[in-house]
Amino acid sequence: MTAPKIYGWCPGALRPMVSGDGLVVRIRAPLGRLKPDQTAGIAALSLRHGNGLIDLSARANLQLRGIQKAEYAPLINGLKRLGLIDADIRRESRRNLMIAPFWRRQDDTYRVARSLAQALARPDAPDLPGKFGFAVDCGPAPVLCASPADIRIERAATGLICRADGMEMGLQTDAGSAAQVALDLADWFLKTGGARAGRGRMAQHLATTALPKRHDIPRLAAATPPGPGVGTHGALVALEFGQIHAQTLAALAPLGPIRLTPWRMLLLEQAHRLPAHPQLITHPHDPRLSISVCTGAPGCKQSLSETRALARKLAGVLPRYASRPVHISGCAKGCAHPQPCAVTLTATGPDRFDLIRNGRAADAPARTGLHPHDILNGEL
Ligand code: SF4
Repeated sequence: MTAPKIYGWCPGALRPMVSGDGLVVRIRAPLGRLKPDQTAGIAALSLRHGNGLIDLSARANLQLRGIQKAEYAPLINGLKRLGLIDADIRRESRRNLMIAPFWRRQDDTYRVARSLAQALARPDAPDLPGKFGFAVDCGPAPVLCASPADIRIERAATGLICRADGMEMGLQTDAGSAAQVALDLADWFLKTGGARAGRGRMAQHLATTALPKRHDIPRLAAATPPGPGVGTHGALVALEFGQIHAQTLAALAPLGPIRLTPWRMLLLEQAHRLPAHPQLITHPHDPRLSISVCTGAPGCKQSLSETRALARKLAGVLPRYASRPVHISGCAKGCAHPQPCAVTLTATGPDRFDLIRNGRAADAPARTGLHPHDILNGEL
């Protein structure tokens, strides 16, 4: 089996990634929010220039799939008209910012996210590795701790902290200075050799390098992200395996602005009840919520097998197994769930999977060479 290729950067709109079904064009919505005309516009562009499939990434970005080369320029022009394109690639790749979706205008999350986005757009902003990102998570309890980020701004008992990923505690700050404190920490990361050949993550760097100041302020206890349902911030709906069809997205546009989450869910800001749509998951115990699955073949060129049809079939039998979390990965890279999972099925060839217990996609398997038939009929 050939090792999967690690790119070391995330696709953007101005820097798309080639995949098995065409280009993947990632949209980083300002403040993680889409106005109704933007939602409707993205859906129309996906149908016109792509294959109509849109992913919601683990960093709360939308990815338009299946863009053929000739369609790329008109797509970007369309996204520009919607106000969703940065001035240049440098600014786009630096704006690697994830925002807890439950913010209100003028609260700390909103203020810090705006200041940080402006600071990252300045010409003197640090040139960080492509996957290096920030999480702004200043609500009453952090909800992004399990989502990928290198520098996190979170609430403490008093004020806010700026926390380097991998550390339990952070540096005291407040909404007025948090963006600058985060940039200073990013500068320190670069000056102390955290990035090599355009790659590097904070937690890896801290394994060998001590922070310059004492980070000794604890954050508040983390909260588990909510499931689908209606809450004070609107209605959360989940997407089957993190993907939505453009027509379904278009149907959501008239319901008001949408916030993107890193949990395969969309927050409909103004909805007071859950929309009834067969492609949206609205029940918190839907077995599909227990399955993470990557694009698989043929959409990803690196995939050794089809994965999504298996995931759909598995969802039908999963209640038999008390809905233990399952991760299905088209190769050992494990894009859909980089963390360990109770059960991971890693493709090793067409319709052949290794089974890993309590591990990652690349870990040693407990069983090898399983066919989907074994998986659907056997004991997981
Ligand atoms: S994990 Fe899935 S999406 Fe990621 S590279 Fe492998 S096959 Fe492709």
